[in-house]
Amino acid sequence: MRETTLPARHCPCGTQIASGLLSCPACQRLVYAEELKRLAARAQTAEQEGDTSGALREWRQALDLLPRDSRQYGVIQAKVEKLSRLVEAGVPPLPSKSGTRPAPSGDKKHSAWKGAGAVGVVLLLWKFKWLVAAALSKGKLLLLGLTKASTLFSMILSLGLYWTAWGWKFALGLIVSIYIHEMGHVTALIRYGIKATPPMFLPGVGAVVRLKQQIVSPREDARVGLAGPMWGLGAAAGAYAVSLAMSWPSWAAIARVGAWINLFNLLPVFSLDGARGFHALSRGQRALAAAVVAGAWFLTSEGLLLLLLIVAGARAFGGQSAEKADHVALAQYVFLVAALSALAVIHVPLPI
Ligand SMILES: [Zn+2]
Repeated sequence: MRETTLPARHCPCGTQIASGLLSCPACQRLVYAEELKRLAARAQTAEQEGDTSGALREWRQALDLLPRDSRQYGVIQAKVEKLSRLVEAGVPPLPSKSGTRPAPSGDKKHSAWKGAGAVGVVLLLWKFKWLVAAALSKGKLLLLGLTKASTLFSMILSLGLYWTAWGWKFALGLIVSIYIHEMGHVTALIRYGIKATPPMFLPGVGAVVRLKQQIVSPREDARVGLAGPMWGLGAAAGAYAVSLAMSWPSWAAIARVGAWINLFNLLPVFSLDGARGFHALSRGQRALAAAVVAGAWFLTSEGLLLLLLIVAGARAFGGQSAEKADHVALAQYVFLVAALSALAVIHVPLPI
């Protein structure tokens, strides 16, 4: 939800402006013109330094201070959309004389990749550079959430609850799995420059990251939503690999339950991660995703997949769907269903 906790002010024209208003009702002057100038300057500096995520963060903050029906809002929203696509492609914004270089649109970029081999190689190197930087910073990012008192406190509370139910080893494994899932969301949110709260554990339920800014693009919603299960899958697969290497069945149990929880999160309903992923899928893509779920259920007989099939089927044939197909979102969703289903049915005794 958008939070508008801005104090009341006086416009230079003499009108008192009620809190929450973004432009003067008398003279139409923007209330936060000075802040907007500062934000724009910071965003442009970030762009020139190749820090696309940083620039996105500043521009999004500027959007929060602009009336939705203003011309500037439309201009900055278009800028955010372009930068967001650059972030996804792993391409830094190249500084231009005007400060911000307009990013190529999806289609144009596609043809440029086909046509100019040399440019493609440079772009690929940039992408690779980003991946290396991401790998190095992942460890640091993973610990980031632990510096927040609310995260740590709620985590310990949850750990205590699971501990009394299943013993400390399994409880700790479960907590770490959930934490890694949440940090997947947090990393994606930082990447797209979207403000959110640190992860908060809800004992017995899981954990949540609450957004402070609305995600308007179905594509961004899907990337942020599916990043959690992606990282969660990584955690479950890692735990399973350790269980095999060290012959520790308790780690296999953590992998299995972790995979099951992530699979549950793929339900395309309410504000679960699956619903965010489905936000970007066209009707045909949703039907395809449901077909893959049906296949996974046929192969594994896991009851949760039947529930997933029913909900995904309902979302495919009823309600609103995205007009444009999002191939990345579909690929991620289908991959998650397949991999998590396989891990959720490994043979290992559970402490539950
Ligand atoms: Zn999630």
